[in-house]
Amino acid sequence: MNIFEAVKAAVPVRQAAEHYGLKVSRNGMACCPFHNDRHPSLKLNEEYFFCFGCGAKGDVIDFAAQMFDLSSYEAAQRLAADFGISTQPGQTVVVPPQTQATSHPAVSGG
Ligand SMILES: [Zn+2]
Repeated sequence: MNIFEAVKAAVPVRQAAEHYGLKVSRNGMACCPFHNDRHPSLKLNEEYFFCFGCGAKGDVIDFAAQMFDLSSYEAAQRLAADFGISTQPGQTVVVPPQTQATSHPAVSGG
């Protein structure tokens, strides 16, 4: 399993989006970070995202890459670091235990 496979298997797109500050509604919609979105246009699933406003789409690695202007490999590395995924060759991928995430206090926006 390479770093891309490990990250995609361990990190749902929706969880990554929330980790990076998007407020995702119960039905998986969020305001798109890739265009000036005032009404949630971004649909987030386990495996991919799609924006009805600007057409941005991809998997969790594409999401981080576009969000932070990284290459795919850099994005995978960042996700692995942020979610505690072991990417050493030959090692078993360690998936962090699901944290019992209750409702976070609202992130104060600009
Ligand atoms: Zn968009």
